[in-house]
Order: sequence, then structure tokens, then C-alpha cells
Amino acid sequence: MEWMRCNSCWLKVEAKQSQFHLTQCGHVYCDKCIIKAEERCHQCGVAGTISLPLKEPLSPQISHYFTRPADLLEKVVQAEQFQESQLSLCLKRADINDNKYQSLKEAYWVSAENLKKVYQKYSKLKMTVAMIQKENNKSMSTTSHPM
Ligand SMILES: [Zn+2]
Ligand SMILES: [Zn+2]
Repeated sequence: MEWMRCNSCWLKVEAKQSQFHLTQCGHVYCDKCIIKAEERCHQCGVAGTISLPLKEPLSPQISHYFTRPADLLEKVVQAEQFQESQLSLCLKRADINDNKYQSLKEAYWVSAENLKKVYQKYSKLKMTVAMIQKENNKSMSTTSHPM
């Protein structure tokens, strides 16, 4: 940031003769000028602005102001790749679960269909047994009480 200067007395930031400050309104002042600027910003006229000292390590709230945009973009690309890979892992996992669910659902319908057939057979058999018992009872009553 060799081109940056105090926004009031135009002292170069790289001069390192002074501590520099960044105001909330986005202006840069040297140690000498910050006192006045916090009362009323020399550039935008805002009153009572607060400031953060520009010293390493920079506060995360403002460090991006002093990072090369290309480096910021690099971080954006990394974040994009990371989040995309995480998302794709989750989607893959969801796909596996979805396939399992589909095959379980199919297995369930086959079982339900088989159960229905078994139940129909059982009902028919029950009716047949009832008929045979009726026949038996009839023949037993005719043999035990002959006319
Ligand atoms: Zn200054
Ligand atoms: Zn300002």
C-alpha cells in the first residue's frame, strides 16, 4: 500500500514515521491527524467516527481492505471449491441413501403383494375347511341320529 497517504496531511503510510488509522467512514489518518478526524472527518465531514489502528496483525474486520484483490479472489475460489466439494460429498451420500430407499420401497411392495396372495390363499383354505367341517357335521349328525 505504498501509494496510501494520510487523508489530511498526505504523509505516506510507508514512511513509518507515524502510526496510521482507518476510520469507520473509510478514511486513513496519521497519528497526528486522527485526533481531529475523529471529531470531524477531514474528508467526509462525519462527526464522532471511530477508528482502528493500522498495525499488524490487522483486525479481521479491515484486513481485506489491505489485501490485494487478486489474493481475495484466490480465497473466494478456494472457498467455492471447498464448499462445492463438501456439497457434492453430501449429495453423493444422499444419492446412496435415496437408492437404498428406492430398493427397500420396491422390496416392500413385492412383499406386500406376496402377503396379499398368501392371505387370499389362506381365506380360500379357511372357507374350504369350514365347508369340510360342515359336511362332516352333517354326516355325523345323520349317522348318530338315524331316522
Ligand atoms: Zn496526517
Ligand atoms: Zn471520513
